[in-house]
Amino acid sequence: MSKLERFLESLYKKYRTLNSGKLASYIPQLANANPDWFAITVVTTDGKVFTVGDSQENFTIQSISKVFLHGMALEDCGRAALLEKVGVEPTGDPFDSVIRLDENSKRPDNPMVNAGAIATTSLIKGNELTERLNRMLEMFRRYINRDVFIDVSVFMSERATGHRNRALANLLLNFGTIDHNIEEILDLYFQQCSLVVNCQDLAMMAATLANRGIQPITNQQAVQSEYVRDMLSVMHTCGMYNYAGEWAYRVGIPAKSGVSGGIIGVIPERAGIAVFSPLIDQQGNSVRGLRVFEDLSQEFGFHLLDVSMGKCNFADCLESD
Ligand code: GLN
Repeated sequence: MSKLERFLESLYKKYRTLNSGKLASYIPQLANANPDWFAITVVTTDGKVFTVGDSQENFTIQSISKVFLHGMALEDCGRAALLEKVGVEPTGDPFDSVIRLDENSKRPDNPMVNAGAIATTSLIKGNELTERLNRMLEMFRRYINRDVFIDVSVFMSERATGHRNRALANLLLNFGTIDHNIEEILDLYFQQCSLVVNCQDLAMMAATLANRGIQPITNQQAVQSEYVRDMLSVMHTCGMYNYAGEWAYRVGIPAKSGVSGGIIGVIPERAGIAVFSPLIDQQGNSVRGLRVFEDLSQEFGFHLLDVSMGKCNFADCLESD
């Protein structure tokens, strides 16, 4: 067994009984999740998979999709045009804040909050919704390397209850950021939140970003490498919402969370990491996920700005002894 596998096992044992946090409850499908689900997966940039727990359990990706739509919008309209519509500034506010958009910025602060993600989604090219949806699914397929699906029941619930998102979209229309096709843009936004993934898929997606946008198994370019920098920078400063500053301080890995309990982290040139555990805190981040990432960062020297202990030789930790 490798050092990494031993460490993942120990993290699984250490945190499986940590039961603080709550299930997301705004739609029944998330409220009915099993609070015991717990998985940790690491995929290296050369495609080795290390995993513990329920790594094949399906759930909807929720806000982790925002990272990948950001990449797609960059490819579709370029850095400058995207920056005109959506900033790259962390907010320190909840991810679905309406007041911030209206009173402060008039422009979504970054692509990781809902207002910004709705704006990036509006930039996805395609003649009608079906074409845009198909292009989006094709993009996710390149990262995940298997067929991908939308959970229709989650999509319908998101659409039926997404009043704040609808309010954000209306404000964006008022500011001229998006065009009048609000319901279509929102549908594509709700569909991306409803993509079905498991923890291993998420780690594979993160590993693709760690590998300059090249999927480690297929060697296919999932996103142009010039845009990986943009995606990781925004993850680093904004990916954990109003916990982003503390996360950058404690963990120091570009990351993104979603309310279904997933967190992805990217260690450039080395690995992608994903944790899945549906109990989330007030900011919407998985409680066990936060602890697991903190321990992994500490153990393997993953904090990007930590020069004190030098980088451990991660490759050695992957070899069986
Ligand atoms: N579907 C949720 C929303 O749009 C996603 C939020 C999240 O994962 N943080 O509000």
